[in-house]
Amino acid sequence: CYADIFAACSPGDPAPLAETSHDLTVRAREIKGAAYYLDAAHSGICEIPADAWLGDAHPHSHAVVIWVAHGRSPEADNIASRWLEGAAGEIARMRALEIGISLKGHIRALGFRAECHYAGATAIDIDRMSLLAGVGILRDREVVSPFIGSGYAPLVVTTDYELAIDHPIADNASVGGLRYWLGINGAESGRERNRQARRASHLSRYPMEQVDRVDSPTTLIFDDEVPRVPKRAEFFQRARMGDLGDKAQQEVRRFAFKHPLTDGMMYPLRAMVPHQDGETAAPVDGFDDAEANTKAIKALSYHLGADLTGICEVPRYAWYSHDGQGKPIEMHHKYAVVMLIDQGYDTMEGASGDDWISGCQSMRGYIRGAEIAGVMAEFLRSQGIDSRPQTNADSEVLQIPLVLLAGLGELSRIGELVLNPFVGPRFKSVVLTTNLPLVPDKPIDFGLQTFCSNCLKCARECPVNAIPFGDKVVFNGYEIWKPDVERCTRYRVTNPKGSACGRCMKTCPLNKVVTADGALVHRIGTWLGVNARFLKSLMVPIAVYLDDKLGYGTRNPIKRWWQDLEIIDGVARKPKGTNERDLNLEADTTGRKSPVGYYHASDMPPPNAKEPVATSHKAAIERATLVETVDAARKRHADRGQTPPHYIPTATLD
Ligand code: SF4
Ligand code: SF4
Repeated sequence: CYADIFAACSPGDPAPLAETSHDLTVRAREIKGAAYYLDAAHSGICEIPADAWLGDAHPHSHAVVIWVAHGRSPEADNIASRWLEGAAGEIARMRALEIGISLKGHIRALGFRAECHYAGATAIDIDRMSLLAGVGILRDREVVSPFIGSGYAPLVVTTDYELAIDHPIADNASVGGLRYWLGINGAESGRERNRQARRASHLSRYPMEQVDRVDSPTTLIFDDEVPRVPKRAEFFQRARMGDLGDKAQQEVRRFAFKHPLTDGMMYPLRAMVPHQDGETAAPVDGFDDAEANTKAIKALSYHLGADLTGICEVPRYAWYSHDGQGKPIEMHHKYAVVMLIDQGYDTMEGASGDDWISGCQSMRGYIRGAEIAGVMAEFLRSQGIDSRPQTNADSEVLQIPLVLLAGLGELSRIGELVLNPFVGPRFKSVVLTTNLPLVPDKPIDFGLQTFCSNCLKCARECPVNAIPFGDKVVFNGYEIWKPDVERCTRYRVTNPKGSACGRCMKTCPLNKVVTADGALVHRIGTWLGVNARFLKSLMVPIAVYLDDKLGYGTRNPIKRWWQDLEIIDGVARKPKGTNERDLNLEADTTGRKSPVGYYHASDMPPPNAKEPVATSHKAAIERATLVETVDAARKRHADRGQTPPHYIPTATLD
């Protein structure tokens, strides 16, 4: 069904001609880079011979071939093997369509025509395109990949956008070999692929089972005091409603979609929203065993493309109190299946974190997350289990406490961001709320509180000083390094030399590759971080010092595949400027010049406020006086002291 949703997306006629490069190699690098960024296993480009068309019309000159590999199959004793019987090809086709439609929209935004072709809906010989574009080879009359065999779904985007072409793979080409197995050429190695294939299907590719589990998160949550908050108080919503002024209100509509690729991704992303809610069928048997369900739902999430999955019960305070229109939200599901989507190390390595590809990095996580949780919810509803995907586009729950409670990370200095021991801060989350009986995971402790207490790198590198340099406080019942959300939102929305911002994630020393393909020193560092925590206070200052000295957090030009383009009034143009940041080693790290502002529950706009409720940053800074230290809050709570009045959200307007 989700493949059909994507197939029905139509970006429409080409936009006016963009100021795209005339260098065909630059163009091809961007298109293939985007395909790989969106997790294609293979991508290649060829010219289309006239006789490759299946009909008389020959509308396009070039073909971009995309192959998506099948997901890992669950073991026979995992009930997800029944759920997924015969579905691997269809799921890979859906993923190929996600990429194909995004590229079609991208090319359209550049001013050219494009069309997607896939099994069951093609006007072109897909096998022939795969051979000509150097993606597949012919073995026993079947087009296969030298690396992933026949477990793939192909898709071809045909276009009149002229691109540099690839060549077919030579018959006598040697593939595999030591270089591939060791990953010497920089591609994912055979060794890593084998390692992943050996892991049970309900486990992620990262060894989360090695991380210490604890009964409650490593940062305090005063469960009885944390207020439920309305969506109207969320700062991007405040920007949309005009609370941050005209400029932010105008820019919030386009800030994440300024680049032609994100413009393309917008179509499948928006198309999924109406399908988040749906009818639940009559219940069927076979879903009573919580342990079996847990293994199966995790295996399903990994098959669909999640990078890390955890489960928790949804506490009262994780539900928003009111939706965007001010209507009260019911707490209707017991469990949250929380999934993380890696935003992709390679692209982040090439970017400054706040240049023109930055918005695309978020969008990649949001689109994949909505797709995975959407398919899972639709499947469960068809089996009589009430479920809903809670996505970036429309969520009834706050995701951060759920990521924490589902044991996927600890709260970091970045503030409203939970950091994972293996992908660091480099992810977006999506949640499936459900009444499927499940076994929750426990929170984790990998010593992050010590790490972040001794590291200021994200705070130093934030372009607008939104991250505090000081200690944690207790805010709205959470122990947290509280960031200045107004400064952060305003910058992300109005960034004049880029699209959005994720510079804190980019520069964090824990943003590394730690699979078998990562550098040995990073893998050792992660192992020590997880398994030898007693060394942490000793190790962290050295690790952070070396991280700077070795230039981590700077841009790696080899990883840069995109063109700097900004869509202005519907035309993709060369932008007036680009954030060219590397490390800001000289920055003031006292935090004295830029105290952060606090927006307490009692300062929030009414849940149903339709008019702008202007913020005052100056007043927000002054309201720091209301904030309790961790010790003071702990003592007050232990002494059964009164909940602070500023924890009480502003009431609904009559
Ligand atoms: Fe600062 Fe950008 Fe991170 Fe916001 S997203 S805290 S502005 S670095
Ligand atoms: Fe923590 Fe340092 Fe990463 Fe900031 S940069 S989140 S302080 S480890």
